[in-house]
Amino acid sequence: MSIYETLGVRRIINARSFSTKCGGGVLPSPVVESMRQAGEACVRISDLQEAASRVIAEATGAEAGIVTSGAAAALTLGTAACLTGLDVTRMNRLPDTEGIPNEIIVHRTHRNDYDHALRAAGARFVEVGYYYYTFEYEVESAITETTAAMFYQAGVPAGAIAFESFVRIARKHSLPVIVDAAAELPPAANLRYFSEAGADIVAYSGGKHLRGPQASGILCGRADLILSAALQHQDMDVFPESWPLRQLIAEGKVLGPPHHGIGRGFKAGKEEIIGLLTAIQLYKTRDFAAELAAWRNDMDTVAKAANGFPGVSVRVTFPQAGGKEVPNAVVSVDPSLAGKSANDVIIALEEGDPPICVSETQACDGMIVFKPEALQPGEAEIIARRLTAVLS
Ligand SMILES: *Cc1c(COP(=O)(O)O)cnc(C)c1O
Repeated sequence: MSIYETLGVRRIINARSFSTKCGGGVLPSPVVESMRQAGEACVRISDLQEAASRVIAEATGAEAGIVTSGAAAALTLGTAACLTGLDVTRMNRLPDTEGIPNEIIVHRTHRNDYDHALRAAGARFVEVGYYYYTFEYEVESAITETTAAMFYQAGVPAGAIAFESFVRIARKHSLPVIVDAAAELPPAANLRYFSEAGADIVAYSGGKHLRGPQASGILCGRADLILSAALQHQDMDVFPESWPLRQLIAEGKVLGPPHHGIGRGFKAGKEEIIGLLTAIQLYKTRDFAAELAAWRNDMDTVAKAANGFPGVSVRVTFPQAGGKEVPNAVVSVDPSLAGKSANDVIIALEEGDPPICVSETQACDGMIVFKPEALQPGEAEIIARRLTAVLS
């Protein structure tokens, strides 16, 4: 009996990519094994995060990094760092930012439901531009003495100025650029692209294409900002006299240790930190061409199963909108001809045995979207059989 069965929880087929609500993906065995070993001894988390910083810096091209509990946590921590710098009294105050620069400039088209993570640190958004176009002067004119940072949502080119131009404007005004690159892998080159192009703070999910633990993420960027984020993340049950980082006080960098910060609730345990570091090392050796070929195969299998039913059309999209190098199988249902709606099909798949979870984000437009990244061998065939049965 599996550990899930003992709890009466059914395993699902996850055709919704590395979706958090569907449990993310399945961990490669070396990641699981490293987490098991991590659980067998204690280490100081600050020492482990320092080692993580070296691994992350090497992999991303950034000066420094920490492992967080996810990309959303990384965005809150990175924002906190931009709001406070190394001012510990400001750290202690967050999310109260009254009287300190707290505005973050954002393209209107880059607003999304993950940006709550930036606002949670105490920042306020100042939106610029329109959905179809934004002029560079609009971005620059929004900068005032209360601006704390500039935020760029990677992977959403429509309506936004180019990332390189955004960085150039930020540089000119000495403002940090925060990038949400949570879901920008693949391509693997994006692991370095944003830091090398001048981002000061970049957030990646550990549990998506990196295939680390679901509750892990990377925050990487400028060393001083990462130090600030680390101080607002880690357990600060410390005293100035014996604090392992007490040289920061001696060097005049901080007045003393801050208290538990805004990110204390996002803690990363030694098991997640080690698991993500293992996944980062594995990432260098993965055969992405073979993985892509398997995804295409799986999506073709699913698409074929939906072919030929009245009112149903099928296509495999590659690359997706925005250029993402992942094929999706998109099944479109016209309820007047098919006798059922996209939502009827989605619910039938979810309520079957085993439950099959698909992307429902375009269901109101009649589309059921199947995603390959978290599928296990043989699962595309199970989906195909069930899909045929549901559409029959
Ligand atoms: C998945 C995602 C996040 C959140 O990542 P977690 O690692 O789950 O916290 C943030 N932003 C975008 C665009 C995402 O796709």
